[in-house]
Formats: sequence, C-alpha cells, structure tokens
Amino acid sequence: MKQVLTVSCKLNPSTEQALKIGAALKAFADACTWINTTTPEQLTNKTTMQTLVYYDCRTLFGLSANLTVRAIARVCANRKAAKVKGRSVKGFAPTSIDYDAKIFGLNTKKWIVGLTLLDGREQIAMSIGNYQRHLLSEAKPTSATLTKRKDGTYHINIQVKSTPPQPEEVTECLGVDLGRTDIAHTSQGEFYCGQQLADLRDKRSKQRAQLQHKATKGTRSTRRRVRQLQQRLSGRERRFQANINHTISHRLVKQAKAKGWSIAIEDLAGIRERTNKQPRNKTERRRSNSWAFFQLRQFLAYKCVRSGVPLVLINPAYTSQTCHCCHRIGERQGKQFKCVAPPGGLAAGRLVDCGWHGDADFNAAMNHSQLGASVMCPRGPWMACHLEGFRKLLASCQ
Ligand SMILES: [Zn+2]
Repeated sequence: MKQVLTVSCKLNPSTEQALKIGAALKAFADACTWINTTTPEQLTNKTTMQTLVYYDCRTLFGLSANLTVRAIARVCANRKAAKVKGRSVKGFAPTSIDYDAKIFGLNTKKWIVGLTLLDGREQIAMSIGNYQRHLLSEAKPTSATLTKRKDGTYHINIQVKSTPPQPEEVTECLGVDLGRTDIAHTSQGEFYCGQQLADLRDKRSKQRAQLQHKATKGTRSTRRRVRQLQQRLSGRERRFQANINHTISHRLVKQAKAKGWSIAIEDLAGIRERTNKQPRNKTERRRSNSWAFFQLRQFLAYKCVRSGVPLVLINPAYTSQTCHCCHRIGERQGKQFKCVAPPGGLAAGRLVDCGWHGDADFNAAMNHSQLGASVMCPRGPWMACHLEGFRKLLASCQ
C-alpha cells in the first residue's frame, strides 16, 4: 500500500514571476473552460478527448504540451466527480494548475521549484520550515498542484508518496471516547479537556457577533475598519482547531505506537445527533456542532497509517451506558457513570458483584478499548456471550 501525503509549501516569487504565474493560471483555467464547452458533455475519456482538442487547445491558449494534457485530465476528472454527484461541471477558476514529473522539478539543495509556465520554466524560491524540509528531503515527488490562495499568496502542494510500515499484529487496544466536555478521553485515563477551548470559542463567537453588528450599523469609516479586522480574524479559529486536532491525534498515535497497541474510536456517523440530544438552545447547538471531530478522525487515520498503528472503528451503540467491568447497562448522569447491577447478578455466565462508579467518558473509552481489542485479536473475537451459565441453569430446570 502506498500513502500519499501532500506537503504544502509557500512560494516566494519575484514580482515578475508572480505576473507570469497569474497569466499561466488564467490560461489554464480558460483552456479547461474551453475544453469543457467544446467537447460532448458525456465524454470523460482522456485519450478520446485529447484526439479532439489537443492541437486547437495548444494554439489557442499557448500552453505547453504537458500542461495541455493536464488541462484535459482536469476536465475529465471534474466531469467524473460531477457525474457521481449528479451535477454538471461548473466553471473553472484561475486558482490552480496540476503539474506532473515532466513540468515540475524540486531542488532540495537550494529549496527552489522549477515550474513550466507559459513561456518556459521558472525557478521559484520556496519559503518553508523544517517540517516541510524533513518531508521533502528524501522524497522524489512526481506530481504537484500550484495554487493561488484567497489572500493572494501562491503555494505549491507537493504529493509525496511513501510506503508505510505494515500494521503490526496487536492484542491490546487504546480506546478513545470523543465528546464535548472532554474532546478525547482514553482508556488509559488521559483526557484532553474541552472547557478551556469552549470558553475561548465562546469569547470569539461573541466578538464576531459584535463585529458583525458594527459592520452593518456603524459609520462608514467604522464599517471599513471592521471589515479589515474581520479579514484578519478569519481563519484564525480554523487554524487553532486544526492545531489542537493535530496535537491530540499525534499524542494518541505516539502512545499507541510505543505500547504496540491499536486505537479504537467510535464510528462518527451520527455524533452530531448524539451530542445534540439534550440541550437545544442556540448557544448549546453552536457549541456542540462546532468541534471538528471529523477532522480529528481524518488526522488520526493518516497518522495511524504512517506509523503502522491499526485504527479500529467501532459501533458506539451503548458504549456510554454499559459498565466496562460487568458489561451490564448502568446509569449515566452527565459526566458520572454508576453501575446499578444488583449484587450477585449474572454476567457472562459468572456471578458478579459490581457497582463500579466513576467518570462516564473513561467508562466509554474502556468499552471502546475492549471492543477494539476483540476485533483485532489474532485468535478471533472474544467479546461474546458465554452461555455456559445459562446452560447449567437450563439443565437444572429440566
Ligand atoms: Zn458493572
């Protein structure tokens, strides 16, 4: 299996180079739009499309041979994606160009990229940090995408292929419960508290509401200044959230790797409905809808593959209501869980005396851990009903 990581690198073009990039982006987008409008709408085959439009496209837009091929490939890919969604292809904005090995080069000694633009190849300096250098130093990338961001800066997203280690055979599992009060709680008792983050996000939300009010009601100069401030603040929360999610997922994977365990998290489909169950006012809805659990899972997934840690998705039904010691339904009130199994009850064919009580998220994480371990166990799953006790009971009744 190959893993493809995308390394995003900021470009530092000279003014002249920036103009050339701008022209190339426009020509590429125009070519895509032209190809899309001139070829039959159903056509998604690259080779057929190439025989139809290649020469005309080159002469009309001045693109190099490979850039023309890339434009054709882009149109085909977009048409296929649109077909799946049952839509037709919208326009092409002059914001990105795809590059392959023949029109893109990376110099890891001087940290510059060579990109074929409209009139020949340009060597453009990159402005990157140690993280990107580490990822790129050994790599021999064969594809990349040149993009222009909303703020006007240019980036090159380089695709780096690597062969991740084979997932190890594991018997134990780190259970992780995702939630709102604790963003993540592990079966080892560690948790990443969400309270501080929630306070900060509340503050930001209030600030945004005030700014929005001023942006519509204030005087002309106030409105202008507010718009500038909104521009500056936009994206800050998104970056903050991504940073936290990167930190949490990195720590979880590191811990599992060190112990030689797998990681089990709940299948996230429907987490929104579940965390939304109780409180329904506007503030609460915003709070429960705004944490990016989906992003956290994506980060976990790729970091797990990279380190060879198996990631197990489990069905979260009843994991927060079941006692992890005796596997019977208990009582959950907010963050507290209490096992209400009667003393001397029967569980898994054995007489048990439980009454466990403690942190509800920890209890759920323990359940995840046991379910995850049972899935990955080389000898087959062991979490099943043992019927011996019942058989004995039945035998004694007959
Ligand atoms: Zn119990």
